[in-house]
Formats: sequence, C-alpha cells, structure tokens
Amino acid sequence: RKNIGILTSGGDAQGMNPCVRAVVRMAIARRCRPFFIYEGYQGLVDGGDKIREAQWSDVSGFLTLGGTMIGTARCMAFRELEGRRTGVLNLIRHGIDALVVIGGDGSLTGADRLRAEWPEHVAALEGEGRITKEQADRFRTLMIVGMVGSIDNDLASTDMTIGACSALERICESVDAILSTATSHQRAFVVEVMGRHCGWLALNAAISTGADYLFIPEAPPKHDDWEASMCATLKASRDAGKRTSLVIVAEGAIDRHLNPIKADYIRDILATRLGYDTRVTILGHVQRGGAPAHFDRFLGTMQGAEAVEAILRATPQTPSPVIGMLENKITTQPLKEAIELTGQVAQAIEAKDFERAIGLRAASFAK
Ligand code: ADP
Repeated sequence: RKNIGILTSGGDAQGMNPCVRAVVRMAIARRCRPFFIYEGYQGLVDGGDKIREAQWSDVSGFLTLGGTMIGTARCMAFRELEGRRTGVLNLIRHGIDALVVIGGDGSLTGADRLRAEWPEHVAALEGEGRITKEQADRFRTLMIVGMVGSIDNDLASTDMTIGACSALERICESVDAILSTATSHQRAFVVEVMGRHCGWLALNAAISTGADYLFIPEAPPKHDDWEASMCATLKASRDAGKRTSLVIVAEGAIDRHLNPIKADYIRDILATRLGYDTRVTILGHVQRGGAPAHFDRFLGTMQGAEAVEAILRATPQTPSPVIGMLENKITTQPLKEAIELTGQVAQAIEAKDFERAIGLRAASFAK
C-alpha cells in the first residue's frame, strides 16, 4: 500500500482535473491512499493543511471542469535547495512515498531535480535530526511520476500534452468567429496564440483555420526581408478573390536573429504597405479556459490510471518516469530523458540552428 501525493503545477491546462480524478480513483481502487497537495509546489513547501488525504467523492464532477481544482502556483521557494528540502520533510511527515506531478516543462524540471537530490535531502534531514533513522530508512527513495499538463504541447516524449487539444479547439472557435466578421469587412487579422517557445498551437491552428501566413519560433523566416514575402503572399491571395487575410503568430515567434516578431508590428506592415484595414487579436487566457475537450478528458484519465500502475510496478531501481502517449499508446519513459530532449530544442534555437530545432521537435513526437 502506497501513499501517493498528487499536485498540479505551473500554468493550468484543461484536462488536469480529469487526470487528478483518475489518479485518486485508481489509487483507491488499488488499495493505496491518495493525498492532494494544494497549490503546486507551494503546498509541498508549506505542508500542514495544504496536504490532505483525498476520498473517492472529492473528485466527483472533475471530468468536465477546466483549470485545476487543487490549485496551482508558481513557487519561488521550490527553486531553492532549502525550499525543496522543506518539501521533502513535509512529504516524509505525511508518509508519502510516491509523488505524481502534473505540470509543464518547468514543473517537471523541478520534479526531476527533486528526484536527483532526494537521497541527499533525506541524509541531510536525518543528520540534522529532523527525521528519525526509521523514517530515513523507509524513505530512502521516492518515486516521482510526471505527466505533462500544458496547453503548449512543448514536451518531448509525448505526442500530445494534457490541455493542448482543448486549447487548440478554443483557438479554432475564436478564429472562426473572427473570420466571419473579417470577411464581411474585407479586413486582415493578426491573431497571436500562446505556446511559449513552442509553435505547435500556432502551426495546428494555422492549418485548421486556413491561415495565409504563420510565424513560429522553431522556423523563423529564412530572409531578413520577410515583410516583403509576407505582403506578396497576402496580396496574391486577395488578388485571387479572397476577402480576408489571416496571419497567425505564436507568442514566442522570432526572426532569424532571435528578435521577437510581434503582432502589432505585423499589423503596421500590412496597414502601411498593403493599405489593409488590419486588426490584432491576442487571444490570451481564453485559450486555457473552459471545459476540457473529449480528448483531454480521455488522455488525462488514461495517463492518470497508468501513473498509479507505474508506481506499483516500480522497484527502488526504476528511474522516475513521465507518462505520455505515442502513436495512440500510453507510454512510460524516463523523466530525465524527456527533460533533456526538451532542453535540446531550446538550445538549438538559441544557437540559431533552426533545422535542428525542427528536427528535434519532429523526433520528439515520432520517438
Ligand atoms: P510550467 O510547469 O507550466 O512550465 P513554470 O516554468 O512556471 O511552469 O514552473 C512551475 C514551477 O515549477 C515553478 O514555479 C517552480 O516552483 C518549479 N520549477 C520550475 N523550474 C524549476 C527548476 N529549474 N528547478 C526547481 N523548480 C523549478
């Protein structure tokens, strides 16, 4: 019988609640005890009533709710060694021997750090007399299971992160609405979508809404005079009879010198060079709001169930896993490798090696 702590961390994402529900209910079904850790890593550091045993009925209705009902936070203390050590102490005090973290790139990087440092923390806490030898012996290892809750779909090791599908759905609905008014007035629209340093949402939104032009971080325009190419493309489609122009720009879009490409700048170019009546819409938090789409309910549920199974299968030698989905199959892969592979994309972009960045993104899905 394991005591399993569950937390959601970083940016919220639709599907986190279905995932929490699955972990709680699968844990209970497997005769384990699930514990909510409220407000992400902040709850881990604060301890006390921020850590509470969860019952079957506590997660009733979670399937249809967006956001995260157990709260999330950005926690500065957890970035420091001392904060993480306090988190370890709180876990041990509550008798928690496995931790499920549902979060994005940053949260899972933090989880991986906790995993790597765990034995050192336990030894230090024992040395300082804050835990007994019996506690130290029982908690020499901690199983941490990661699941990627992120609308950005920016983590290697999974084809889809929990929340990405719902966010894309919301973007498509919004752009459809924008397009009907844009067509009426023959306007151009520049729509900025989320995704941080990942262009997945923007790319898929552009394909799904029939955008005329797209900017994503992994594939900046190849030439400095990209404004002229963009204008020529948009003009050609107007000349062919289209009544609107739609440009989708990822929030992390950059040019080939790594300078940001912003929606307002694109609007100014279209207005001055082409004379189009151009409006900017920054979709913002509407993208992360609302009920989870079917796929995120399904993905969260299947992964949450697998997280509990992974905990029960693990031996002290098993590396901490991240649960994902590749080619429609729920997968379990080492957390450490997923974090490293994801980091390589950012490094390739920083080094302006965009071919490699695109290759790595594609490889991380196909792996
Ligand atoms: P996301 O998980 O959505 O990417 P953040 O990057 O804000 O969101 O990370 C969420 C939290 O995870 C942070 O507030 C911090 O507590 C923790 N975290 C992120 N990166 C690290 C790190 N390198 N080391 C330790 N903790 C981290």
